[in-house]
Amino acid sequence: MGKIDRYSRQILFQPIGEEGQQLLASKRVLIVGMGALGTVLANHLVRAGVGHVRFADRDYVEKSNLQRQMLFDEDDVSEALPKAIAAQKRLQKINSDVTVEGIVTDVTLQNIAELMEGVDLVLDGTDNFQTRFLINDACYKNGIPFVYGGAVSSRGMSAIFIPGVTPCLRCFIGGGNTTGQTCDTIGVISPVIDIVASFQTIEALKYLTNNHDVQRKSLITFDLWKHHIYEMKFTKSKENCPTCSLHEYPALQGDVEQSVTSLCGRETVQINMGQKLNLDDWADRLSKIGEVTKTPFLIRVQLSEGERLVLFPDGRTLIQGTEDISRAKSLYARYIGL
Ligand SMILES: [Zn+2]
Repeated sequence: MGKIDRYSRQILFQPIGEEGQQLLASKRVLIVGMGALGTVLANHLVRAGVGHVRFADRDYVEKSNLQRQMLFDEDDVSEALPKAIAAQKRLQKINSDVTVEGIVTDVTLQNIAELMEGVDLVLDGTDNFQTRFLINDACYKNGIPFVYGGAVSSRGMSAIFIPGVTPCLRCFIGGGNTTGQTCDTIGVISPVIDIVASFQTIEALKYLTNNHDVQRKSLITFDLWKHHIYEMKFTKSKENCPTCSLHEYPALQGDVEQSVTSLCGRETVQINMGQKLNLDDWADRLSKIGEVTKTPFLIRVQLSEGERLVLFPDGRTLIQGTEDISRAKSLYARYIGL
């Protein structure tokens, strides 16, 4: 009775109905990242009655998150709560019928299989392509669909990728194209987040309620400020796609993890993504976020978070002021882009 009340408007929506509602209650999803996209995704899915919503995030709540990360408030900032914990508390209050499982962790090659265990669908709430390719490859290897979403500035994109049915993320986006254009360098406005996450949620709801015939088969991209919308229709997988054609799953091969090293006793983590860095370009980009010191051999930028980044032309970046690898990766993703 109470349950019918709660979901009455959703049950009245014919393509879902009572049968769809029961299906939702029986499903498990994993959301990777509980930042801007993750909070909107989790809010929708928990309210919709998805039976088990698991999510993982490595960061804690900061003041600059409140503009767009809708599950957090000023108390979470002053307590510096991990996002996964703050979100779990909030979501469980919103719907006590469903299981909400927040996990504080960096999602890596080592733990992604465990995090994905038993889930029907994975949703991308990350801010970097390193983790997205890891999700893509792990999902295609295990036959689990994933819903991609990305947002920066006033632009967003989204698609559902279904192993054996559609091409994968790698068929559209090549690896290693770091441009420094992240939400922390050129910003993002919150309506873009809501729309990307809503596009993701729609495909998730269709998938979880077995409405597979109406699943959107395209990568949608838009610029909300300019009101441009563009849809790239899915065709076949790329012949040489290492994931969905060759089944090599490069992100599961371990190369990337080896590129991150904590330099013991120096409060420094080194990340080397193997891509040369043009110091002039990076000095220019990073000057927008902090004071930059440039020498012929390196550039150094003082971050407002307290740490310093030191970039070398051979592709190495040092994150000084922390020994915590996940913190360092998080700052790297924020300012350099993975
Ligand atoms: Zn592919």
